[in-house]
Amino acid sequence: MPYDTAIDPEQVRAFLEEHPEVKVVCVCNHDTPSGTLNDIDAIGAVVAEAGALLLVDAVSSWAGMPTSPTSSQAAVYVTGPNKCLGCPPSLSLVAVSEAAWAKIEANPDAPFASMLSFTDWKNAWKRTEPFPFTPSVAELNGLNAALDRYLEEGPEAVWKRHALTARVCREGIKAMGVELWPVSEDIASPTATAVKMPDGIDAGPVLVETRARYGISMSAGRAETRGKLIRIGHMGPTAQPAYALLAVSAMGGALKALGAKVDVAAGLAAAQAAWDAAIDE
Ligand SMILES: *Cc1c(COP(=O)(O)O)cnc(C)c1O
Repeated sequence: MPYDTAIDPEQVRAFLEEHPEVKVVCVCNHDTPSGTLNDIDAIGAVVAEAGALLLVDAVSSWAGMPTSPTSSQAAVYVTGPNKCLGCPPSLSLVAVSEAAWAKIEANPDAPFASMLSFTDWKNAWKRTEPFPFTPSVAELNGLNAALDRYLEEGPEAVWKRHALTARVCREGIKAMGVELWPVSEDIASPTATAVKMPDGIDAGPVLVETRARYGISMSAGRAETRGKLIRIGHMGPTAQPAYALLAVSAMGGALKALGAKVDVAAGLAAAQAAWDAAIDE
């Protein structure tokens, strides 16, 4: 499957019908290296119908868009507070369904007394239970503060802010004369915008220029997409339309400096127009 597309739930259905022996399906919600979204709710429904368990990586999507363990019917749903919550790194947030607990508990080989063990953690969230290991006190306090901030702003408002930032970014990139990486905007993530490099332009020197000229950091692709795309992250505190304008400006300026044909002014005007349209709504 090409990295600029999303997983087709019908393809998952067809595969599971051909392979009834499959018991566990793993899926990434937001494929961060390519800025594309997989429809985990639709995939989750297919997996549930097939009687298999779904493992979801929602590290860079949860808290930045509407996604949850329940809507995806996930057996295990993993996320991290260091992406869309803007927390210090090092913790993992994991939701485990009743069906997954039943499977773990029925497995005599399930790890215990180990960092890899869910069993050790099953009751650790309760006030009455001890942590199985020394708690990461500073990070837990950070998580607590970030969750307060998230709930005070309100999840819907936070998702809207991410969606608007991404829209402002995409409108700016397109109007500048540069293509988005995802084949369709329907699958473009609200938490990161992947941009396709124009023909003959390698992403490496563009990233050097955005940083050297404007002090703005962006990310490269991975493995086979390295050099072909650039990712503009807008997660957590960086999900602000003003940052999208800066990103469009820096990417445009860097591309122009490297000889690409881009209309930076048109990009900035379109980005601003998308922002204004949301303000005036
Ligand atoms: C960042 C990321 C990870 C890894 O999270 P770390 O906190 O860096 O360990 C895993 N999956 C996705 C989709 C990510 O974006």
